[in-house]
Amino acid sequence: MTKTLFGRTSLIITSTMLIFLLATIAIAGYFIILPVGKRNADDLASLILLSAKTYVELPLETRQDFIDELSKNHQLYWGNGAEQLAEHTHLKPHFSFMEESLSSRLGSNVDISPEVGNLDRHWVDIKIAEKTVRIGFDQQRIGVALPYVAFYLVAILSIMAIFSSLLLVRKITRPVQNLSQAATIIGAGGVPKPLLEEGPKELAETARAFNKMSTDVQNLLENRTVLLGGISHDLRTPLTRMRMALEMLPDSVDTELSSEMAEAIDNMELIIREYMQLTKGLEDENIEPVNINTLISAIIKEIKPDKSQIINLADDGDYQFETYAVALHRVLFNLIDNAISYGNKNPVSISWEQQDDTLKITISDQGSGIPEQHQEKIFRPFYRLESSRNRASGGTGLGLAIVDQIITQRGWEISLSSTQGSGTSITISI
Ligand code: ATP
Ligand code: MG
Repeated sequence: MTKTLFGRTSLIITSTMLIFLLATIAIAGYFIILPVGKRNADDLASLILLSAKTYVELPLETRQDFIDELSKNHQLYWGNGAEQLAEHTHLKPHFSFMEESLSSRLGSNVDISPEVGNLDRHWVDIKIAEKTVRIGFDQQRIGVALPYVAFYLVAILSIMAIFSSLLLVRKITRPVQNLSQAATIIGAGGVPKPLLEEGPKELAETARAFNKMSTDVQNLLENRTVLLGGISHDLRTPLTRMRMALEMLPDSVDTELSSEMAEAIDNMELIIREYMQLTKGLEDENIEPVNINTLISAIIKEIKPDKSQIINLADDGDYQFETYAVALHRVLFNLIDNAISYGNKNPVSISWEQQDDTLKITISDQGSGIPEQHQEKIFRPFYRLESSRNRASGGTGLGLAIVDQIITQRGWEISLSSTQGSGTSITISI
């Protein structure tokens, strides 16, 4: 989660907002709410003290009127000492403020306790002139409930902060996500749907630029295919004519020379055939069950390797796998052909195993290997290692380019491991 742009941005925004919120509450609490609370508690404490003093000094007959007056107009109640008091555990700091204020005014320790069964009402015993007076007041009498205010504020504001930042970040990351998906599709040789060119200016511009690039790439690919396909096709006719002319030459012509030319023409035809295959891409093909053993045996028969170059085939005669048969044939043909051509006449081994839905086929040779710096490049069209270029029976350098194209289009995977001098091993996962 924290690896994605969405996760990171929302984390930063939410935590910044929360820190800001807590700081605001702390500052407001310290400079505003706390002093107001103290002031309130102080006022109430002095009212209680004043009432107690007045009560004690009043003549007996007027005391009841005074008590009635207090409860009616000031919400202060007279206790008779029969109230059951609970342990005083104060959630709100106001009680502590009041206790402090009363204690300092009276010069002795004063406790405020709630009444058992009526936790709303609190009582305080005040000793004045050898007498103890019990005065009660209700919870709501002591003003703002600081901790609750802070708690509700934090709760509501954090929920708002989280939601709004998630909403905001989603708005920003969604187009970036779409862009990355579309770029991946182009990378795999596909055509993505055009991106929506809307939203904030920068994102809309990016989408527009990307869409243009995507169409440009498609056009370029199409032009290249048409052009090269056309050239390859048109070269076939003059080649055929050359071959016919070569066959009609009088016997007096040097046969070695003419057979060399015939070989060159063969070679050119092979290149053209392979190139047309590459530019045409893959035809639509259905998935069908393929007997892997039969397929590989057929390919080996086509290639006709030297007798010495025995192929070690992992033997599982009845093994079938549902896949694109023609595409798999082309890929395996090129890989086995290479293993045999560049395997220095050493045995080649082919094995396969199924892991879940994936079939892994590995072709290993014991040739001279492919140096690290060439391992990626050999998948480019016409790229051949120096050693193979000098070879008399040269290939075209298109085999692996075709393999690469099929692998990408079918969503398969290919991995190559090769150590110079001891051979190459290529695994395809389909
Ligand atoms: P073709 O189009 O006939 O297959 P090619 O074999 O030369 O021609 P690729 O199959 O594309 O072309 O291979 C490109 C190059 O990679 C080869 O020329 C060769 O130098 C090198 N190469 C490929 N496979 C191996 C291998 N198993 N061992 C060593 N080198 C290899
Ligand atoms: Mg090849």
